Amino acid sequence: MHLVMGSPNRYLQEKDILLKAGEQIAPLGKKVLLVGDETTLAVARPKLAPSLNKAGLEFAEEVFAGEVTKEEAHRIADLLINAGYDLIIGVGGGKAIDTAKAAAAYADRKLVTIPTLASNCAPWTPLSVFYDQTGAFEEYIIFQFSPALVLVDTEIIAKSMPNYFKAGIADTVVKFYEARASAANKEKNVPTRAALKIAAECKYIIFEYAVQAAKDLEKQKASKAVEKIVDSIIALGGMVGGIGSDNCRIAAAHAIHNGLTVLPETHQLLHGEKVAFGTLVQLELEGAESEFFELLELLNQLDQPITLDQLGLSDIEQSALEKVAVKSCLPAESIHNLPFKVNPELVIKAIQSVDEKAQAYLAKLKK
Ligand SMILES: [Zn+2]
Repeated sequence: MHLVMGSPNRYLQEKDILLKAGEQIAPLGKKVLLVGDETTLAVARPKLAPSLNKAGLEFAEEVFAGEVTKEEAHRIADLLINAGYDLIIGVGGGKAIDTAKAAAAYADRKLVTIPTLASNCAPWTPLSVFYDQTGAFEEYIIFQFSPALVLVDTEIIAKSMPNYFKAGIADTVVKFYEARASAANKEKNVPTRAALKIAAECKYIIFEYAVQAAKDLEKQKASKAVEKIVDSIIALGGMVGGIGSDNCRIAAAHAIHNGLTVLPETHQLLHGEKVAFGTLVQLELEGAESEFFELLELLNQLDQPITLDQLGLSDIEQSALEKVAVKSCLPAESIHNLPFKVNPELVIKAIQSVDEKAQAYLAKLKK
């Protein structure tokens, strides 16, 4: 078996779609639990609550504990069962949605996702990324079902924080480079070929519209460019892994991200920001010179870190760099999805080379 099409039943993206949420959700159940954090619930409430009321739905809000843990998902699942809820709605970014997804799976309830920002494909996918109580990555689990409905209100997303949006773009464009690398030495079955085409299309859309979309989002404008990028982050991003499955997964860029996380200086950066730098390192390892400079320019326009200095690592010592490289090259790391052999020495060289090229690029821009 190679085709695992993990996708939602329905994906609706429209400005003010939440005003129609009730009529979309009513066919799925009558008693609804909304799960998010205080901010995301407050953002959705002015449109969502009247719309659910109008459709005659009974609903309550539940603030989740803030981290995607199995304990928290089970706590919410018990709530769904004991209070007799028909369905759960995850409202927020990745963490609230991943928690709602797991709770829906544990309680065997239908799931609706309402992203309040566009920074990843969590609203689309059937998987949750779990962390332990300390916030360290634990594992990801792919469930047997996908969201019944995804409601994307671009007017709400246009008011989200621009840095999350821009990092989300970086964490989406990477899919093209990583899927291509991880599929390189594998048999290109039909789903793999389709996923690679989707990843390429996603990349073209991002190169065409991302800079404009980022500018529009800073002005809280739900423009055409914002719509196109939101669809790319959530839907196309979700499809690459959904169709491509194990042949189109992460590769070096996410392994470099994981390596960077050993340095406390990088903890203030968003996931996508570290992935952005990791993507440049991957292209450097691949010797993809023209793609490297094409992406460097885009990432710089999107305020993503392209130098060690911008990663908060201006005075990084050789030993710290080694730690990053060793962690990125651990046997279980996705860097080994590259179609050639890598080791920590090559990774260190690539990181230093990215830094030098990016510094030279920035110096040239200043002239
Ligand atoms: Zn990522």
